[in-house]
Amino acid sequence: MSKATTSHRCLNCGTPLKADNEQVSAKCPNCHALINIMNAPLDYTKGGGQDVPSSEKSLQRLENSRNRFRIIESHLRSHQNFIDIGCGSGEMLTAAQDLFSRTIGFDRNEALVAHCLSKGLEVHDQFFSKETFKKLEIVGKTVFSVCHVIEHLENPSEFLRTITSCMESGDLLYVEVPLYEGISFAEERFSWSLWYEEHLQLFSMRALSLITAIDGFSTLDKGHRTFISENRPRKILKKLFRHPLWGTYRLITKKRYQNLADAILRDYGFVLIKRND
Ligand SMILES: [Zn+2]
Repeated sequence: MSKATTSHRCLNCGTPLKADNEQVSAKCPNCHALINIMNAPLDYTKGGGQDVPSSEKSLQRLENSRNRFRIIESHLRSHQNFIDIGCGSGEMLTAAQDLFSRTIGFDRNEALVAHCLSKGLEVHDQFFSKETFKKLEIVGKTVFSVCHVIEHLENPSEFLRTITSCMESGDLLYVEVPLYEGISFAEERFSWSLWYEEHLQLFSMRALSLITAIDGFSTLDKGHRTFISENRPRKILKKLFRHPLWGTYRLITKKRYQNLADAILRDYGFVLIKRND
């Protein structure tokens, strides 16, 4: 049924794995990622679990994308291009248009690519590779983004290296993934909507740090994020009520660009790396 059960290896670091008692996951003893051993193959061109969003959902995603740029913005140094790999419905590209002269997306979901093209966005219905990148004839410094993509991949490190092999001095790469270390997985366990067959793993911050520690690159920032959702205030209040000291510490130490939910819920992790000069 699953690649992980047959290979018994961590997707990130290759460490041998042992399934948990529920036979649905295996935690890597080295990088601490939670590997899904109940996953199934899937055709991304026909959906990959992603539909064209409602206008309300699209606005939420746009705000979410703007929050990501609050992290990236202070590290921009005359970057002219923005490339979003796995751009989905294109909100990250829309949010990027104020900051970059050229914004480019890659995605394989036919319906979402058509949706992006109808909004006038430059999106390529291709897998990102060195060859497809070369055809773009990029001029100037570039920021690459890969959000909520590598948890779908059997070899996340290899894919990140495909991206980093296209990067020049000063180029940036922003990577974001779902974590099982946040409040949502702690509360909802395997009924959390981010635990499903298309996600081959939920990351730990340790695993994300490990696969983004690449020779010739420096880590500029890393931390936690969250999405806007209806039940967010309830989750935050519950956590603060149960763990007031922990919550106070999180609020005092939160970064300037983080909101309350980012600091408390911690459902997603990001890393921003730069190719050294
Ligand atoms: Zn591992």
